[in-house]
Amino acid sequence: MKKKISILGSTGSIGTQALDVIRSFPDHFEVTVLAAGTNAGLLIKQALEWGPKIVVIADKTRYKEVQTALHTHGIEVRCGEEGLIEAARYPSADMVLVSLVGFAALTPTIEAIRARKDIALASKEVMVVAGGMVTRLAEEKNIRILPVDSEHSAIFQCLEGESKQQVEKIYLTASGGPFLRYHPNEMECISPEAALKHPNWKMGNKITIDSASMMNKGLEVIEAKWLFGLDPDQIDVVIHPQSIVHSLVQFRDGALKAQLGTPDMRLPILYAFSWPQRLSASWPRFDFADYPSLTFEKADQKKFRNLALSFQALRKGGNIPCVLNAANEVVVQAFLEKQLDFMKMPDVIEQTMERSVYIANPDLQELRQCDLEARLIASEYI
Ligand code: MG
Repeated sequence: MKKKISILGSTGSIGTQALDVIRSFPDHFEVTVLAAGTNAGLLIKQALEWGPKIVVIADKTRYKEVQTALHTHGIEVRCGEEGLIEAARYPSADMVLVSLVGFAALTPTIEAIRARKDIALASKEVMVVAGGMVTRLAEEKNIRILPVDSEHSAIFQCLEGESKQQVEKIYLTASGGPFLRYHPNEMECISPEAALKHPNWKMGNKITIDSASMMNKGLEVIEAKWLFGLDPDQIDVVIHPQSIVHSLVQFRDGALKAQLGTPDMRLPILYAFSWPQRLSASWPRFDFADYPSLTFEKADQKKFRNLALSFQALRKGGNIPCVLNAANEVVVQAFLEKQLDFMKMPDVIEQTMERSVYIANPDLQELRQCDLEARLIASEYI
């Protein structure tokens, strides 16, 4: 029996690599639904290759183009948020890969869980914004959330065969991004072009900027809390510039377990798809000769203030991580459009966090409202 997979965000970096994985394992997986944000051209190409049951383009202005290209091939086309929700709930799918960018991933993820689909989660923002709600719902519906984020996949792999009670803490590794060795003075005039050059990983724009500003690691700290049921004090970050050790778990006897591998997202994607099995893959193996030394150092939360702000948001809880995420989405966009300096991004996020009204247990409606308000507040500071 092949596992039927719906891909929400098929034209992005994770989506296209997920299709590579499925292409390599045609006896194990098949594509049921393809959904994308705005890239109509690539979505049409993918649909013609994979022949999914339905195709969704979130951007309604691109609907006609996709519909015209696909209707003669018997592929149904939908659009907008309603379309994404239909895609998330599509009856015959066994698993939904969520790889949409940002807050937009939340509602489709919740709908997929309500429809009792296992989730392969690449969009960490879902856990940042609504981790409590999403994990409770997953438990209630008895479905699995399998991490696709490489660090969380590493932790998940280290925890196989262990019980949660044995865990003392986890270490998320961070490459430190392109500016790890920069003096704070040099960081004043960083251009989007420089920030988009990640030393080890090839990823989408939003996450590459998040990596350069260390917000990516901050969001991953919050994601880890919910995926693994940890307290804030049990989560730490360690800089590891080579990106070979993908993360570590420290147990209560002091033992450390790590998962290592080349920086290739196809591995965590495959593990999420194939779990609890491992499948034989033929991609290049790690070569020790390429990495004579693996190094580790403390993360500098003064230089990378986004990391400190994320721990703050994690400790405050409630709707504050949602505020952090919304403000971050706004400042990243502004930075890419050269309307905001690199070092001003944490300032705006901090001010937005301070000005937002605290809600201890927000429901989905309150989170949507909070997301909108935080975006408005952050925009005012830009
Ligand atoms: Mg990651």
